[in-house]
Amino acid sequence: MTTAIHPKTKFDDLFIKEGLNGQDAYFQAIDQTKKLISDVSAQTRGPFCGETPQMIQRAVKEMKLAAEKGQPLETVLEDVETLLLHGIQVNHKACIGHLHCPPLIPALAAEMVISAANQSLDSWDQSSSATYLEQELINWICSRLGLGNTADGTFTSGGTQSNYMGLLLARDSFCQQQWNWNVQKKGLPPEASRLRILCSEAAHFTVKKSASQLGLGEDAVIQVSTDCHQRMSLGDLKEKLRILKADNLLPFALVGTCGTTDFGSIDPLDQMAEAAKENSLWFHVDAAYGGALMLSHNDVHRLKGIERADSITADFHKLFFQPISCGAFLLKDRRHFQHISYHADYLNPEQDDEEGLIHLVNKSVQTTRRFDALKLFMSLRTVGLERFGDMIDHTIQVARETAQLMQESRLFTVINGEPELNAVVFRYEPPFLKNNCDAFNKQIHSELLHGGRVLLAKTVYEGELYLKFTLLNPRVTMEDMKKLIADIVELGDNIHRREGKPS
Ligand SMILES: *Cc1c(COP(=O)(O)O)cnc(C)c1O
Repeated sequence: MTTAIHPKTKFDDLFIKEGLNGQDAYFQAIDQTKKLISDVSAQTRGPFCGETPQMIQRAVKEMKLAAEKGQPLETVLEDVETLLLHGIQVNHKACIGHLHCPPLIPALAAEMVISAANQSLDSWDQSSSATYLEQELINWICSRLGLGNTADGTFTSGGTQSNYMGLLLARDSFCQQQWNWNVQKKGLPPEASRLRILCSEAAHFTVKKSASQLGLGEDAVIQVSTDCHQRMSLGDLKEKLRILKADNLLPFALVGTCGTTDFGSIDPLDQMAEAAKENSLWFHVDAAYGGALMLSHNDVHRLKGIERADSITADFHKLFFQPISCGAFLLKDRRHFQHISYHADYLNPEQDDEEGLIHLVNKSVQTTRRFDALKLFMSLRTVGLERFGDMIDHTIQVARETAQLMQESRLFTVINGEPELNAVVFRYEPPFLKNNCDAFNKQIHSELLHGGRVLLAKTVYEGELYLKFTLLNPRVTMEDMKKLIADIVELGDNIHRREGKPS
């Protein structure tokens, strides 16, 4: 329809229209939304409002979910304001608990474009240029990781999906080689109960979750012990492989973690790649967190060995500062994507391949898929590789100095005294504390959170409760950390005085 005059329709106020002023209604909605964001910022005092879960749930339950007759956006935004004020303020500098980053501004601008343009990356005729940009970016990441020219990949919803894909392709390619068995067509082979996956005991829980979803069961995952730095122990890997073979089991995949979720530890990737080769295992590297070292100036060398992986998980909504969701799955030999490709007549008929129309659905476990590549593109170009590297290096430096400071104070136990990425796992253990260290630190965590002051994470190490900083925000400085440590000490002392009298 290329007519110059657009007759009005009953629904014109609800969509972006062709032609001059066709975006007016959209821009008005955006202006109102901008005002909401600024009103919320003006009222934000900390990373969390501090209200009880019951109060928050009640506020949400009171909201009308749908209206018979539509209401003005401004009215609905009043409820959204309530939601945001009771949410987590991820841009706040004291929001340092989880692998949950403040998003970069150019990526937020990209989100506007992504949603308004609404490209779908499954078929060429739903995305055309976007298909090529995603492909170019994938090629760029593969080359940055040194994967070589047979490599390929796809954007994913995050690390969970990428880990699942790695193990799916590993399983299917093993069954193909071992028994000439096509899992895609025939399901699991009779021997499937002998299949085993190896990862360290600090690997992400999605390795087990994937195994269960892949029909292998969680028990198919063999956990290798870790050394004192929470990295996979090569000695125990050797031992576990020996036992598996003696038991007539079939290890087919080895998962290395580049940046464990709690400690940011990096497994000995190069030696693991060697072990994988010797034992004909698929080597998958879960670099959801540590993959960002590919942009670091100081620490990129610690990725050594990743270039030997058969597949890699990278997450951009962690240390690449992208809004959720944004991740990638990378594959050393693109032919393995054949295990998940499926031709649908309506979407990606085979003859299109011959015409050079590429359909990214062939490489994805999703069908309809967002143009998340755009936000990484806009971020890399606007921020530049130099400052990207500076940001990552800064966060690692702050974590190292923080860990050192806490150790020197002798008031804290720090598990990873020399953090490999930017997580610090610790607990406050002042001399006056004789017992109940778990309860005491839990209390500190809870009062900081519910006082709306600091959002820390809790974790368990060797059966005991610890607290964790995940220092993803590059705006956080050592001055902030010194003040925060002093605040924790003060709060701990107050709790002690209040509840004191060790039992
Ligand atoms: C976060 C994380 C995952 C899961 O990724 P999502 O993006 O949350 O799905 C997997 N592995 C590691 C090491 C992670 O840190």
